Order: sequence, then structure tokens, then C-alpha cells
Amino acid sequence: MKDGENEHGNAQSPSVPNVTTRTEFDFIDQLRQRATLQAHSSQTIQLLKLGIGDDAAVVHSSAVKDTVIATDLLIEGIDFRRNTAPANLLGHKALAVSLSDIAAMGARPRWSLISLGVPDDVWQSSFANDFYEGLFHLAGQYDVQLIGGDTSRTPEQIVIDSIVIGECPIDRAIERSGAQPGDQIFVTGALGGAAGGLRLIERGAHLADQNFSANETQALDHLLLRHLQPEPRIGWGMVLGQERLANSMIDISDGLSSDLNHICLESRVGALIHSSLLPIDVQVVELCGRRALDPLQLALHGGEDFELLFTVRPDAVAKLPRRVDGVGITHIGEIRDGSEGVKISEGTRVWELQPGGWKHF
Ligand code: ADP
Ligand code: MG
Repeated sequence: MKDGENEHGNAQSPSVPNVTTRTEFDFIDQLRQRATLQAHSSQTIQLLKLGIGDDAAVVHSSAVKDTVIATDLLIEGIDFRRNTAPANLLGHKALAVSLSDIAAMGARPRWSLISLGVPDDVWQSSFANDFYEGLFHLAGQYDVQLIGGDTSRTPEQIVIDSIVIGECPIDRAIERSGAQPGDQIFVTGALGGAAGGLRLIERGAHLADQNFSANETQALDHLLLRHLQPEPRIGWGMVLGQERLANSMIDISDGLSSDLNHICLESRVGALIHSSLLPIDVQVVELCGRRALDPLQLALHGGEDFELLFTVRPDAVAKLPRRVDGVGITHIGEIRDGSEGVKISEGTRVWELQPGGWKHF
């Protein structure tokens, strides 16, 4: 939407929140309804398998394959700060966040389009060279090819738009909407590291920070890199998709609490997770715990871990591999009936797990 336009279209109903009270999710829902209504009359609807509302869109491309498309925006001052995010790591992250959405569909990433808007002083610096150094390095790791983009000047801030196109065998994309009561909930890797790293950066920590003791330096770098250089779980995504092991999946970009709520909302189910099972990053427990940052809160609500959160039918649990690309998984709870809501247990206490992650608006 451009400045001066607004979204008051024919598709609005009286229950739609007004401009001042709506959240990012209300806004996306409105777009989703409007896009669905508009496409009904055209042939494009026949090619579209999944539109707005998941980690990526899925379109029919051949008798054997579907095409999967995701896009992400990184804005200076909101998603990163120029003085704390080295340009090569920013290039890595710009691609990684979209690769993660492709992984969350169980698909294989193939092509990338990157658009870059930078102010003049950044253009005169080594920023763009360093940015693409990091980006090409990650692209090479997963055999992803840069096939296009756009370059422009901005008045002040760096703006990055990253699109990734992937593929999966026909009808194998894993949507957010496939979870059913009785499914077991799993997460790859560890949680809370990216949010812990961000909090420490906000308090002035740097990579290989000399102000920390030798033992802490490695642990600190690990946490900072969880925020600055996330690793998309491509291998796990493809295994879960191709072998039909997961029936719903999302990547943890907003935070476990928000992203689990997205799965439950789309699948019309409830969930119960057990706090004692959560794989909280050990460095979060060590470093953040000592600095009055609550590890459980970081693991539940901290965003940008880019781990995969997925559900598995009880009879498929035994078929799950233990590790893929050296990354393990953890069972954290189970899907319940929708009437039970989304809950977390700690010992004998059970409470509602409100989505507490990152919201733009
Ligand atoms: P993710 O965190 O997985 O990147 P988002 O929360 O950004 O997902 O987006 C959720 C869904 O809403 C996706 O299908 C995305 O394509 C769609 N979406 C977000 N913003 C817009 C927009 N401005 N116009 C159309 N679709 C949008
Ligand atoms: Mg996502």
C-alpha cells in the first residue's frame, strides 16, 4: 500500500477492525479475504494452491512439482541496526529468513531475488560488497541461485527485500493448517538464543567482546550469532516434507508462543506444551540468567530463532530421524481439541499461552 492510499475496499465487513486498532494480523487477514474474493473470477485461482496466510505461497507448476514462494522485508532501525549488524552477516540473514520460510513448507529453496535500497553514504562504503559476500556464501551452501532483484536509493535507511522461490513434490507442501488433536508437537534445535543475543547487543555486547571473561566469550558469540546469523533448517524441512512426517509446520520467527498460536488458529485446534520439555539454549540459561533476563520468557516469546515448529501424527513419531545436518529435535507437547485453547504447563500449574512474540503494529 502506498502513502495516501487506504485499505477501505469493498471487501470490508462491519466486524473488521478500524485503521487505528487493527494489528498486523488483522491487516493480513483483510488482505487475505480481499485477495480470495478478487481471484474467484479469474483463471489464476486454479493455479494457486495456497495464498496469503502461511509461511509461503504455493502454486501449481507441473504434473510433479509445486512452486513455493516467500518474501521478507528487513528495515534498518526496526529489524537491524547498522552499527551492530556487520554487513556480511546482514546479507546472510536477509537470505536466511526467506530460506527459513521455504523450509517451513517442507520445500527445497532454488532461487533468490534481492532488492536493496541504501542511502548515498552507504552506497559509497563497502556495505554492498560485504552484504553480497555473506549472501552468496549462504546461497552456495544450499545451492540457491540469485536470479534478480532491484537496486535503489533511500533518503536515510537501508531497506532489504528478500524473495526466495523453492520447489516441492506435488501436494507435499506442509501448511500451518494440518494439525489434529493427538498430534505430537516438536521443535528443531534450541530456543531463546536469538532473543538473548539481541538483548545482550542492546546492552552493548559485540562479537568477541573483550569485556567478557575468556569462557564467556565463546558463549556470548554463540548467542550474538543466533541473532545476527540465523541458520535456516533446510535439511529438516525437506525431510519432514518429502517423507510426509509432519502434518503442520511453521518457522519460529515471531516467537514460539505466537507461532504455535498461528498453527492452532489455522488448524482450529488447541495445544498443551510442557515448560520442562522446552529446549532452552544452554547459553541463554548461563549468560542471560545471570543478567536478570528470564530464559523461559526468551524461549517462549523471543523471536527469530528460525527453528521449525511442527506436528506429527502419533503413528509417525517413531519414523522421525534423531538428527538432520547435526541438528536434533525435541518433543514439547501435544495438540488438543480447539475448545482447550493453547496452554503451557509448569509442574502442576497450567496456564494460557498468550502470543507474546514480536508484533510490528
Ligand atoms: P512469516 O513470519 O512466516 O514471514 P508473516 O507473518 O510475515 O509470515 O506473513 C504471514 C502471511 O501474510 C504470509 O502469507 C505473507 O505472505 C502474508 N503477508 C504479509 N504482509 C503482506 C502484505 N503486505 N501483502 C500481502 N500479503 C502479506
Ligand atoms: Mg515464517
